[in-house]
Amino acid sequence: MNDGQQISNWKQKVLFTPGPLTTSMSVKQAMLRDVGHRDFEFIHAIRDVRQKLLEIGQVANKGYEAILLQGSGTFAVEAVISTGTNPEGKWLVIQNGAYGARIGKIIDVLKIKKTVLKYAENSLPNLGEIEKTLKEDPFITHVAVVHNETTTGLVNPIKKIGEIVKRFNKIYFVDAMSSFGAFQMNLEELKIDWLACTANKNIEGVPGFAFALAKKDVLLATEGNARSLALDLLDQWKGFERNGQFRFSPPTHSILAFKEALLELEKEGGVPGREARYKENYQTLIEGMREMGFTEYLNPEIQGHIIVSFNYPSYPNFNFEQFYKILNDRGYVIYPGKVSNADCFRIAVCGRLFKNDILDVLNVIKETVDAMGVEL
Ligand SMILES: *Cc1c(COP(=O)(O)O)cnc(C)c1O
Repeated sequence: MNDGQQISNWKQKVLFTPGPLTTSMSVKQAMLRDVGHRDFEFIHAIRDVRQKLLEIGQVANKGYEAILLQGSGTFAVEAVISTGTNPEGKWLVIQNGAYGARIGKIIDVLKIKKTVLKYAENSLPNLGEIEKTLKEDPFITHVAVVHNETTTGLVNPIKKIGEIVKRFNKIYFVDAMSSFGAFQMNLEELKIDWLACTANKNIEGVPGFAFALAKKDVLLATEGNARSLALDLLDQWKGFERNGQFRFSPPTHSILAFKEALLELEKEGGVPGREARYKENYQTLIEGMREMGFTEYLNPEIQGHIIVSFNYPSYPNFNFEQFYKILNDRGYVIYPGKVSNADCFRIAVCGRLFKNDILDVLNVIKETVDAMGVEL
């Protein structure tokens, strides 16, 4: 095996998936060395990363904290809920997709009380109903919503929801897993107390850790809540404050990669620059797909610029497994659908992808549907 050749041929597979996603060559290269976890350089990298995450959320030096946590994004969501809920706590979960449903499931596993407002996967939540629920149930202490519902690509109105949540003085949690880094967000203005995200989505790092951003007074008020040792965000934060380190074995390589990914985000013009590139990718994708005759699952008004769900063509020759495999064999990895009541597949435009990559995948899709004899 020739390692050098494998690395230079780094776009063997291009991922059109929302995370893990396509990362740059330099992000991958940043991992090609070992650092000890007590190494000064590593401790500085952790400190830089935590600071830059607060900057991305526009809350550096504004009473917020960034807490890194080993594991995937779900670990951060579970950590927020298990650390953030006091013994008498009760959640209101606003659900219009699989990730909202996962929040509800975590709450159930933790045997915490909850109530759910569930909406169709292609529709926005009803704000009047959220308000009514908060008015009628004084036991609710926390409200959770997913920002960009990766299930479909739908964007929830987190600002309007935050205003309602704060009118009733509740704690507000936003799962921003597939939005943070590519949507301009100011946590303070959005009234977010807890936000969860992961290294391997729009910041374009590799998998290995997730993170939570927390309003510091809300974080400090969680003393005694922990329902898990490994997922205790307050204790994890105290560890970083004490000696700059993770409490348990740190994801050294993915932190090095992430530090590089943050530099690339800066070079691109920060979140506005990244948002602009993804939006261009998104426009290119939907125009090309529409031209071929594909239709989108969501109404464009509620569709975000990260991932798009396309309806299966009704023509009988279309077979998703075959379609997926042909594209995959040619190096283009798309994503199956996750909508519960419609047959869809998804294409994400996030990651180290540019307009040319989108034009490439469109060409390959065209050739594939032609080869399959699908008439759109
Ligand atoms: C990716 C994602 C998660 C976390 O998923 P993991 O597989 O645990 O990383 C949670 N919520 C949303 C909206 C996501 O897109």
